[in-house]
This record gives sequence, structure tokens and C-alpha cells, in this order.
Amino acid sequence: MTTFFNERYGRDPTATYFAPGRVNLLGGPDYNDVFVLPFALGAGVYVAASGRPGRRLAVTSRQAGGEPVLLDIDALEPGSVTGWAAYPAGVAWALREAGYLAGGADLAIDADLPAGSGLSSSAALECSVALALTGLYQVTVPRPELAALARRAENEFVGAPCGIMDQFVALLGRAGHALLLDCRTATETAVPLDPAAAGLALLIIDTRVRHAVGDGQYGNRRRACEQAAAQLGVPALRDVVDDPGAHGAVDRLADPDLRSVARHVVAENGRVLRAVELLRAGDQAAFGDVLTESHRSLSCRFRMSWPQADVAVEAAIDHGAAGARMTGGGFGGSVVALVPADRDQAVRAAVTSRFMRQGWSAPHYLAVAPSAGAHRVSPR
Ligand code: ADP
Ligand code: MG
Repeated sequence: MTTFFNERYGRDPTATYFAPGRVNLLGGPDYNDVFVLPFALGAGVYVAASGRPGRRLAVTSRQAGGEPVLLDIDALEPGSVTGWAAYPAGVAWALREAGYLAGGADLAIDADLPAGSGLSSSAALECSVALALTGLYQVTVPRPELAALARRAENEFVGAPCGIMDQFVALLGRAGHALLLDCRTATETAVPLDPAAAGLALLIIDTRVRHAVGDGQYGNRRRACEQAAAQLGVPALRDVVDDPGAHGAVDRLADPDLRSVARHVVAENGRVLRAVELLRAGDQAAFGDVLTESHRSLSCRFRMSWPQADVAVEAAIDHGAAGARMTGGGFGGSVVALVPADRDQAVRAAVTSRFMRQGWSAPHYLAVAPSAGAHRVSPR
């Protein structure tokens, strides 16, 4: 990181920050204000940073390439920056609006997390930049508030209507734990998640189908959830979850699509709570069954899966995985599988061979473990 920063700016950075990507194991979508169960990855986005005099930011990314983009802090408004630089610019804007941006900075970004694969590189980028811009000037912001500001950047500046989950887990993730996150109150409880202790491993299967949160399908599903909530007379499907009396009312939704979407959200919330009990009891294998059940509901009822994810899940299960489920915003991205350590190679080989038979590009694999949230990497 120091070398990359030095190449771009001709001096060494003051500090380097990191924020992780995430996997959501169960629950959601988060915009329904429900419970979700994500964990932070070891992979993510790094930002080498240094303060600079004046009210400007320079941002450059090894993945995006090109010359550093120069931004005038006081001219930042939604719509004023497009492309990848809108993410860091949006964070600077949200911090400025909240009175937390103390000065200019040079930022050099590098990542070991693929973008657009459902592992939330966008939140990792936002949160690493948020940590850098506050950390450089010793501005202390409570992490839940920083998560809300990073989300605001994505919603209002980038224009992507994501919920709070990704930014929250990027900033508050804990090694060896998943987070039971209440998306309405943005409060979390850490739940031990140690598959290795049960002879299991968490395997990400990147199906190489790229989604775009900005495209129609994510928005369509979101609108279906909002319509279902409105027809049921509640602010969000969360309120149906909380009111057992309203569960039955879901069946009376006239539109079959809305009915099916709402049923998924309500049942999924039950799965999150059941899974947390299983994890607390140390029953990681039974937890796997809940993952698979969730995937099938996402695929058949909520219909946010895609053919490669369905094939990856079924092939993994057929070859010994304890469970598997798509993760992320849907319509592309990755699958997470819970795999007995001694079946890992067999599962990978089986999934790849099914993909080849379909004429699809081979998936990428990544072994992952629940890791810590965003932090300063150097100086330590
Ligand atoms: P996901 O969050 O699932 O990876 P998104 O579509 O939400 O997918 O965000 C991906 C976008 O985030 C990329 O198109 C790019 O604009 C930005 N991004 C992510 N990582 C980087 C990076 N290392 N450098 C520059 N831009 C990045
Ligand atoms: Mg994203």
C-alpha cells in the first residue's frame, strides 16, 4: 500500500485503513427492517491516506486505474461525481454534512475483494474511506453513526437504494462471530460462529455473474416488499414479523407475487432466529439445513436467485456440503457453502464440473472465516 501511494503522490502515507466485505448467512432483505445474520470477511478494501492542505480530496484506485480524481470538498453534491469515485466522494459529502470532515486528503485504494460479486465491495470502499477521512484528523465518530453516514453516501450520493446491513457489518464485525443485526434499530448482538470447531469450513463460490444494484431487479423486489407492506397497512414487512396476528393476513394479499415475497420475508426472519439458537447451542450442522432452506425460499418465493447460484447450491449439497445459500442483493454474485473440511475439494470439483457442463465460466472459490470489522492497519 505504501508503494502504491508513493507512486501516485510522491511521498509516504500517514496511515493505512481497512474495511472488510461481508457474507450474509440469513435474513433480509435488510430494507424490510428485519433481522439479518452477516459476518465480516478477512478480504476487503485498503486505503492508504495522508492529509493535504486545502479543501480538496484526491482519490485513486488500483482496480479502477487512471490518474487520481481531484474533488473539491465544498462543491460535493449528489450528482456531482459519477463512476467509482462517487463512493469515496459520497462519503466525504456525508461526513461534511454531518460536520465530521476536518480537512483534505490524498487517498490510494487497493482491494483483495472482487467488486460486484455480492460480497459488498461498495460498503468496504465506503467504510475504509470513512475511517481514513475521520482517522487522519482524529475525529471520533461512533461506529453505528459512521455506518449510517456511509449508507447515506451510497443511497443519496451514489443513488443505490441499499439497506444498513453492509456498512454496519463492515464497521462492527467481530472475529469468530456473526452479527445478529436488527436492521430497524441498527443494533447488534455477536453470535459465536466457529465452523472449524465442528470440522466445517465456509466456502464462497463466486458464480462470476455480475449484478448491479442500480439495475431494475433489485428495485423491483424492493418495491414489491413496499407494496406488500402498504397493502397490509404497516410501515415495513418487519411489522408483520413482529405481529403473529398479521402473519395470516399475508395469505390474504390478493397479488400472488406480493404474497409470495411477503411470505418469504416473514419465514426468513423465523429462520434467522432459529439459526441463532442452533449456533448458540453449537449445532453447526443443523445450521447448514437452515441455509439451504433459506436458499430455496429465496429462489422459489422471493425469486432473487439466478441459475448459476441454484446449480452451485444443489451441486454443493449433492457432494456433501452441510448447507448452501446465495448471498448479497441477488441476481448475480456469490453463494456461501458450509462444507465439511474433508469435502472441500470434492465440492469445488463438483460445482466446477456442473458449470462446465452448462457452458458457464468456472466459478472462483474463496475460503473465508468470520473476521474483524474495519480498522487501522498501520501504524498499529
Ligand atoms: P458489491 O458491493 O456487491 O461488490 P456494488 O455494485 O454494490 O457491488 O459495488 C461495486 C462498485 O463499487 C464497483 O462498480 C465500483 O464502482 C466500486 N468499487 C468497489 N471496489 C472498488 C475498488 N477497489 N476500487 C474502485 N471502485 C470500487
Ligand atoms: Mg454493494
